[in-house]
Amino acid sequence: MTTVGILGGGQLARMMVLAGAPLGLRFVVFDPAADACAGQIAPLQVGAFDDNAALAEFAAKVDVITFDFENVPAASARWLAERRPVYPNPAALAVAQDRLSEKTLFQELGIPLPPFADIDSREALAARVAEFGTPCILKTRRLGYDGKGQFRIRSQADIDAAWQALGAQAGKTGLILEGFVAFDREVSVVAVRGRDGEFRAWPLTGNWHVDGVLSASLAPAEVTAAQQATAIDYARRVAEHLDYVGVFALELFCRGDALLANEMAPRVHNSGHWTSDGAETSQFENHVRAVLGLPLGDTRVLGYASMLNWLGQMPDAKPVLAEAAGHWHDYGKQPREGRKVGHANLRADSPLALAEALQRVGDALGRQAQVAPVVETLHRTGMTPG
Ligand code: AMP
Repeated sequence: MTTVGILGGGQLARMMVLAGAPLGLRFVVFDPAADACAGQIAPLQVGAFDDNAALAEFAAKVDVITFDFENVPAASARWLAERRPVYPNPAALAVAQDRLSEKTLFQELGIPLPPFADIDSREALAARVAEFGTPCILKTRRLGYDGKGQFRIRSQADIDAAWQALGAQAGKTGLILEGFVAFDREVSVVAVRGRDGEFRAWPLTGNWHVDGVLSASLAPAEVTAAQQATAIDYARRVAEHLDYVGVFALELFCRGDALLANEMAPRVHNSGHWTSDGAETSQFENHVRAVLGLPLGDTRVLGYASMLNWLGQMPDAKPVLAEAAGHWHDYGKQPREGRKVGHANLRADSPLALAEALQRVGDALGRQAQVAPVVETLHRTGMTPG
């Protein structure tokens, strides 16, 4: 009996446990919070990520270790890696934890991205804003996610406010300034690499964010065959360079034919949640397979698939469950403003059938604005010959 240890016990761990159970696996999740939602379906060890005694106890219970949370201190990941196999490897995790090292890597690998600069003072900020032009975005280098730790600088007049908001982080998480990309759409590559180097990617996913947080996804994304191939090639370059094992996501901006990298997430990703009900093999199952050195499953999409994120509190499940291929994912979390508490997956064989299903769900739940950009994209796809 193999036991997989997961650092972080949120919804991602929960979905890995659900996907790994049919493979005969056991899991132990490790989280600082006693109410971590994966703890409802797997043994939970409560502990701090930097508590070596707790980590030693955890390591003793498991055969292999992975992550649901990328901000586990790199030193803890390295410490564990001396005791148990850890995938992805701690060096890869460390790169992905820091926007500056991640973007420097993209640049070294020839992956296009918006201009960026390390910012360590107000003067450096002012100089780089003048260089990049406005708008631009000041972000914390580490520990930011879902648009948190970001300040949009719309004009030179915002520099003081930006420094006031984030300047104190310069000596802590570090800061990075990025040029703003007036993108047409956002896409992500969700990909997996096995222990033996086998690489597979799901079709690109189109993503819509609201206030920096994912709201809806659609696969396949509305991209050209060339963009699809290019994006997957970028993901492969990153994975091979880092000797990455497991699932990861590479987020990209599309502007015309151009693709610009934004960031990578060294874990299963919200933009791959549709794969649970819309792909031959889900990201969760393939992550577990990769970590264990098992053959990887096929990543093809079964028709057209969409995911709607539920933030704050769960809506009524019935309109989704009434759909032919509507699936409900409730993470078992307490409601809280802005918190990711669940999602719905919908699938259909044709773009128009999926658009209709999404519209019915959007109307029934009063979520017309959430489904609108996906429905609009599906209508365009449905009208396009071929
Ligand atoms: P991030 O945490 O970097 O993924 O940012 C969250 C969201 O903010 C992204 O998905 C974009 O919608 C937006 N965003 C972040 N960086 C940029 C940028 N350089 N240009 C335009 N939009 C951005």
